[in-house]
Amino acid sequence: MKKILTLVILMLIFLTSCGKSSEKSAVDEIIKRDFLIVGVKNDSKPFGFISKTTGEPAGFDIDVAKYIAKDLLGDEMKVEFVEVNPNTRIEAITSGKVDLVIATMSVTPSRQYLIDFSIPYYYAGQTALVRNDSDIYTFADLKKKTTIVALGTTAEKNIRNIIPAARIVGYNNYKEAFQAFIEGKGDALSTDDTIISGFLMDYNNGEYRMLKNKISQEPYAVAFKQYDDKKLKKTMDIIITRMKKDGTIRQLKEKWHLH
Ligand code: GLU
Repeated sequence: MKKILTLVILMLIFLTSCGKSSEKSAVDEIIKRDFLIVGVKNDSKPFGFISKTTGEPAGFDIDVAKYIAKDLLGDEMKVEFVEVNPNTRIEAITSGKVDLVIATMSVTPSRQYLIDFSIPYYYAGQTALVRNDSDIYTFADLKKKTTIVALGTTAEKNIRNIIPAARIVGYNNYKEAFQAFIEGKGDALSTDDTIISGFLMDYNNGEYRMLKNKISQEPYAVAFKQYDDKKLKKTMDIIITRMKKDGTIRQLKEKWHLH
């Protein structure tokens, strides 16, 4: 009987310590591993794309990831980048495939049910890309037109809510979405002004234009798993606050031609 009791007590200690260690601290786990695993985009210039000169991930979000690695681990090179797209971002976090997602990801109440966010590091807004000779000037003009979106984005959700009459064609990532737009599979492509500006950096031949009005504010933040101790959240908030105070965010906006 005594043996069973001891065994039960030992098991209880083991289980509570297991719980504690898994909740202990994601930050400690990262520091122990000595590199960060970050989900980034490779088709959303100027936030996350593959540099033609280096063949490596580059962009505003990649620079944010490198700053976090430098702050946390003392070396901006201590980051492993994993490609994510709007539809795989949350799963990459909840499954533990990545520590962080830094991928033009807006904070929304429905996403906050599933994952945590740092304080925002950039504010974008949803607008749309159309052909220059198009008769679309406002979002109201999208009624009865075909709008291309990337699936799983706030853009998809907002268009469905605001213009129920709009026809929507969805793609899994921006590479496919922009390609479809170029091929004329839609009258407009709606997403953040940042991503459309990035497209226009490459396609600046006057063939396309961006609508002037924005229908949302999109606060970009670092996303990660929900942990009870909130240590990762506190750490990320401190780092993002530092990036704002020491002028890094301002410098990155200049570097990547953003306002
Ligand atoms: N920022 C918006 C979102 O989080 C749209 C851009 C994107 O898909 O990354 O859904």
